[in-house]
Amino acid sequence: MERIITISSNNMKKSLETKKILSEKLKSAGFCISDRLENESELIISIGGDGSFLKTINDFNFPNIPVVVINTGHLGFFAELDPSEIDEFIQDYKSKKVFIQEVHPLKANICTKDSHSTIEAINEVVIKSVCSRTLHLDLMVNENKIQKFSGDGMLISTPIGSTAYNYSAGGSIVDPSLDTLQLTPLAPMNTIAYRSFTSSIILSAHSTISILPEYRFENSILVVVDGVEYKFNDIVNIEIIRSETKIKLLRRSNYEFWKRASEKFL
Ligand code: NAP
Repeated sequence: MERIITISSNNMKKSLETKKILSEKLKSAGFCISDRLENESELIISIGGDGSFLKTINDFNFPNIPVVVINTGHLGFFAELDPSEIDEFIQDYKSKKVFIQEVHPLKANICTKDSHSTIEAINEVVIKSVCSRTLHLDLMVNENKIQKFSGDGMLISTPIGSTAYNYSAGGSIVDPSLDTLQLTPLAPMNTIAYRSFTSSIILSAHSTISILPEYRFENSILVVVDGVEYKFNDIVNIEIIRSETKIKLLRRSNYEFWKRASEKFL
């Protein structure tokens, strides 16, 4: 039976060169190559950086087959190998010296006065004002009102996304083996006029976060999902939960989250 591997690459020169070399090596090792996600594809190889990985997952509509990233980008937090390690990787893959790290995206259900949309995110969902005015949001967790928040916005991240925008916003790096959601305030106002929490809140992954905007100057809100902006008018409620979808990251046997975190950040 044919073994098909799907390759997705960004358009950087280095990525396209890597794609050519990888395709030749995989064909020599007995695999068929496709640019598309075929019914029989057993693996997706994404070539680029983390941004390309996030795009690949979206382009292939959150696929349920394993994905591995070859880093030709800048940071490469999701990446498992460099282009120089292709031979070694093919050997490891063929001899099954790999394992799957499953990560759950977030699911945001956005209800406006007259519509309902659902969006999934690997890293985070950010709620922001469109016009740089203060955002006032009622925050509820499991139907309990926590606070009226005032500030630039709120960021809700997955554990695997905790090292991205969340970390820059002062949030904590979370071990992805923990089942959590993290809510990080963006420039919270904490004065006698407005009381807002000033540090991240870590919640169980089974929590339901509800964000209800209060409109004072403007009825539009930006929902930024893994860096992609969606503008909505008259949002009534944004509900954020952990998605049931699982993304399968293919890891080599020497992968360890904290080793990766210390190499890239600490
Ligand atoms: P981008 O240029 O594609 O990414 C910005 C940086 O974030 C890149 O260096 C990227 O790595 C890195 N990154 C992405 N996911 C990561 C993760 N899980 N852990 C650690 N680093 C990660 O930017 P974009 O297209 O606007 O948005 C993509 C992601 O970038 C978003 O999901 C968000 O988390 C992050 N971002 C961060 C900030 C900030 O830190 N202030 C602002 C906006 C967006 P590569 O270099 O390998 O691509």
